[in-house]
Amino acid sequence: IDVFYRPLEKVSNVLESYPKGIAGFRRYRQFLQTEPDIADRPGALALGRAAGAVAFEGASFAYDAGRPVIGELTLRVAPGETIAFVGPSGAGKTTLLALVPRFYDVSGGAVTLDGHDVRDLTLASLRRNIGVVSQDVFLFGGTLRENVAYGRLEASEAEIVEAVRRARLGGLVESLPDGLDTVVGERGVRLSGGQKQRVAIARIFLKNPPVLILDEATSALDVETEAEIQASLEALSQGRTTLIIAHRLATVRNAHRIVVLTAEGVREEGGHHDLVARGGLYARMQAAQSLASGQVAAE
Ligand code: ATP
Repeated sequence: IDVFYRPLEKVSNVLESYPKGIAGFRRYRQFLQTEPDIADRPGALALGRAAGAVAFEGASFAYDAGRPVIGELTLRVAPGETIAFVGPSGAGKTTLLALVPRFYDVSGGAVTLDGHDVRDLTLASLRRNIGVVSQDVFLFGGTLRENVAYGRLEASEAEIVEAVRRARLGGLVESLPDGLDTVVGERGVRLSGGQKQRVAIARIFLKNPPVLILDEATSALDVETEAEIQASLEALSQGRTTLIIAHRLATVRNAHRIVVLTAEGVREEGGHHDLVARGGLYARMQAAQSLASGQVAAE
């Protein structure tokens, strides 16, 4: 289940008819930031740029009371560290990472950013510090430039061009009739799954947040595209705290730390070689090459 996409669903129908232009985008963004139950506390702190220390401190969460999905989980991630989460389907990986930008709030314990409980920060300042690349990339009916600029509305032309380059979208731009001014989406040029992911990556290069949350695509991309995206994502994660729901071996091998999550909680934690040597669940998943697809039972 892709909770990262969910906040957008409710407005997706409005989008096609939404007034074009920057003012329209601003209003639209404000609309996105209003979710029921998740709101600024009185006197919430507007955090500046965080160093990027993320911690789950005995964090619990349940969608339905009495059926915890995350139970008192403690995990501390250092600034700049890359952690890959793997584990069977339904283990709660997506849910866990959704707690960081407050798509949901914990029911017990806390999630912190640079030592601040995320509920004590303004939502705007919290989310300015976090970039999310989910499996379903959301494009609106505008030009490619506008879609990239959505990462930071006040970005200059030079910054947009640089983000496009770093996300390896240059080839696409050159192939389009009007380059960055080409209208994309439903009413324009349809982009492939891989191209959409690269738009998402370009947005985050522009936004430049210290924390990155990545829900790696499970859908098969062609080998060349996959290698390109892998390279862009690696570049994107440099110098940022990166939390990845990983489905690919290459991603997991490159992570500083791997966390194997099951419905019971953190089952194993360590580097690739340690975990293979341990001969546990990770070793079995790794052998089956299905790191998060649930093809390997937890037991
Ligand atoms: P996958 O790899 O299949 O995406 P996951 O490890 O990311 O799995 P989650 O999507 O976080 O797992 O789901 C954890 C549990 O929470 C599952 O039992 C799922 O059915 C349940 N769940 C997820 N979203 C909701 C929701 N919105 N309402 C109720 N239950 C939910």
